Amino acid sequence: MNSGEGMPAFDGVTIALSKGRIFEDTLPLLQRAGVTPLADPETSRQLILPTNRADVRLVIVRASDVPTYVQYGAADIGIAGKDVLMEHGGSGLYQPLDLRIAKCRLMVAVPQGFDYAGAIGRGARLRVATKYAESARNHFAEKGVHVDLIKLYGSMELAPLTGLADVIVDLVSSGNTLKANHLEAVEEIAQISARLVVNVAAWKLNRSRIAPIVDAFASGLEGSP
Ligand code: ATP
Ligand code: MG
Repeated sequence: MNSGEGMPAFDGVTIALSKGRIFEDTLPLLQRAGVTPLADPETSRQLILPTNRADVRLVIVRASDVPTYVQYGAADIGIAGKDVLMEHGGSGLYQPLDLRIAKCRLMVAVPQGFDYAGAIGRGARLRVATKYAESARNHFAEKGVHVDLIKLYGSMELAPLTGLADVIVDLVSSGNTLKANHLEAVEEIAQISARLVVNVAAWKLNRSRIAPIVDAFASGLEGSP
């Protein structure tokens, strides 16, 4: 898709990805879909990566910015964690595929020994530190628990240790980071994996170019665990 005036025209499909975990886990799926990046985003300073296909390029953005690029059509397709999509809200995004990569869980965690059930039973007001404010707000509202949300951008584990918050809401995979900080997970909010998202307008107007790429991702998933 093309963007504003004065921008170099790109008459193909743009895929938005983040570096690190998402890129690593997506690379085999991209390759099965016949798309090979011509540079490594971990070492290259380029933010727009050409691929072996002249009609497909990648743009490298922050994980939490992927839905925004796709929503506004600056990218046609994106790959983003469900955590990021829940915070974004999903406006303007078609979400056809669960890629079943970058799996983890969004959880409530507390200092070891903290009586979470008791605090909730008493109707205590909880101070919750998290990067996932929307998901946390919705979760505690559904449970009828009153919370003060404290927005952080990382290292949530530190918040209960310093008295900033009573509990945190964070992604958990092995639980080792929690354990190292004397915290324990007490409640699951959502199971997380990365999803393929498509700009809704591009999906309607440019279906003949986008659908084959989505289909190739889908068939690359079949039979994989
Ligand atoms: P940034 O580094 O730009 O602040 P980030 O920390 O969200 O962003 P990553 O750590 O690469 O970026 O995480 C990208 C996505 O990978 C997350 O949105 C989530 O869906 C998934 N993810 C995060 N942590 C884990 C984990 N421990 N195990 C599996 N998947 C994870
Ligand atoms: Mg991270």
